[in-house]
Amino acid sequence: MTSSVSYENWTQQSVTFPTDDGTKGARTVLEWAYQNYPEDKIVYASSFGAEAIVLIDLIQQIKPDANIVFLDTGLHFPETYDVIDKIESRFPTLKIERKKPALSLDEQAAEYGSALWKRDPNLCCQIRKVIPLQETLSSKDAWISGLRREQSPTRKDTQFLNKDDKFKNIKICPLIHWTWDEVWSYIKENELPYNILHDHHYPSIGCFPCTQPVGMDGDSRAGRWAGSGKTECGLHTKIGDITTGKRRPT
Ligand code: SF4
Repeated sequence: MTSSVSYENWTQQSVTFPTDDGTKGARTVLEWAYQNYPEDKIVYASSFGAEAIVLIDLIQQIKPDANIVFLDTGLHFPETYDVIDKIESRFPTLKIERKKPALSLDEQAAEYGSALWKRDPNLCCQIRKVIPLQETLSSKDAWISGLRREQSPTRKDTQFLNKDDKFKNIKICPLIHWTWDEVWSYIKENELPYNILHDHHYPSIGCFPCTQPVGMDGDSRAGRWAGSGKTECGLHTKIGDITTGKRRPT
């Protein structure tokens, strides 16, 4: 391990991490991240899904007062809010922010019509997820994400450190080498709380209007925006400009 890395003078080769630390590099990457970024310059953007539970447990061992942000669209399942409550009880020193969009659901309906997610899920995600995360990351240098390479073809090339042109940040992905089975072994062995929807064929959990149960042996993200052709909310793609107004993303 060597020096820190910044968005402006990014070089992918500047830091290397061993993967034989018992966590496939995740612990080493997190230790590096919290040593190299001041606490007000790094945040974990958490969905509180299964991968998030692993990351939160690893993070709290390294940085007990780490900043975590949850993009609270107002459209999550009650079970998701339940697991956040349980994590807050289990790890009370973590600083968990429930970040809300500028528009309430009523304001969004008044401006764009009801159930925008049915007619234009990209715009809905832009308003309720992408812009709020951009607001959070505008004061950060790095953010942590629970992406794993096996989650989908679009994530197979994810690195531990990624130059994030969308948010002008370094995106740190400690779990890239973990399998789904390894995520669950860690959760069970450490008796961690998790979203109980995972026990009912929801491997990937987002907002309730856009999440369906799927077979556990198939594409773990097949239940997200099923049938719409949309596969990502926009946090991990380069499509769609960051906007601070109400203009439709391109
Ligand atoms: Fe809207 Fe669905 Fe995106 Fe949630 S996942 S912000 S409901 S389009």
